[in-house]
Amino acid sequence: MHVRSGDNVLVIAGRERGKTGQITRVFPKEERVIVSGVNLVKRHLKARPGVAQAGIIEKEAPLHASNVMILCPSCNKPTRIGHRVYEEAGTKRKERVCKRCGEVIPVNRNVG
Ligand SMILES: [Zn+2]
Repeated sequence: MHVRSGDNVLVIAGRERGKTGQITRVFPKEERVIVSGVNLVKRHLKARPGVAQAGIIEKEAPLHASNVMILCPSCNKPTRIGHRVYEEAGTKRKERVCKRCGEVIPVNRNVG
């Protein structure tokens, strides 16, 4: 999968095309992601133990990962991702780079 939690993405296909948001969860097996504020569905929840809020609530439904494109934090454009290998203390590591501007796309480790 080309995106991960914490990435800001643009939806490029489907009903929510054109919207942007941050990825809050990824489901690698299904190749799906949840983008905050995008693809909201209404859920009717009955009050019972374990349900924090009952009634009709809106929550995000997963989107297919192929329908989102990462937004580069450096050039602010939707882009494809390249990988660059570099060495740190003798071990090879990979980092993600923007295919448009070549800048590194950092991983936001505070989310997900
Ligand atoms: Zn860029």
